[in-house]
Amino acid sequence: MAQPAPRDASPRNTAPRFVIQRHRARALHYDFRLEIEGVLVSWAVPKGITLDPSARHLAVHVDDHAREHANFEGAFPGGGDVIVWDRGTWELHGAEDARGAVDAGEIHVELHGEKVRGRVVLIRTGEPGVPRERWLVLHKRDDHAIDGWDPEEHPRSVVSGLTNDEIAS
Ligand code: MN
Repeated sequence: MAQPAPRDASPRNTAPRFVIQRHRARALHYDFRLEIEGVLVSWAVPKGITLDPSARHLAVHVDDHAREHANFEGAFPGGGDVIVWDRGTWELHGAEDARGAVDAGEIHVELHGEKVRGRVVLIRTGEPGVPRERWLVLHKRDDHAIDGWDPEEHPRSVVSGLTNDEIAS
């Protein structure tokens, strides 16, 4: 009987992407988006994604976005602006199925971004199934962790090199 092919966890050409957009709207937040099954599963994170392993940041689960949204940066005619603050690829850990992990309220990912690298965990803390579910996002204490690291001290787009102020003007 043939052996099943070993599962290859190495990135393929089609490794799923992630993006973090810094979005100045009525309130500043970072949109953290994981590509899962062709859409961007998204959380709005007021304090952003950090390398600081002691931080526990609120992440509000928002609607899935179309994949095309991942590259957008610029100013909105009605006000507000957005930059691509970080992007890269990601891998799922500790689960077989990313959508299933999100539905179950806990997903562990390894991010390979330009700013954010290492193991990031999202955990639902609020009532499931309601609009704008409350989650927490944290960075594990791993080789990429940096105590006190603040996303606001790394404000430039990884695409254009511009800040939100510069892209809005
Ligand atoms: Mn947003």
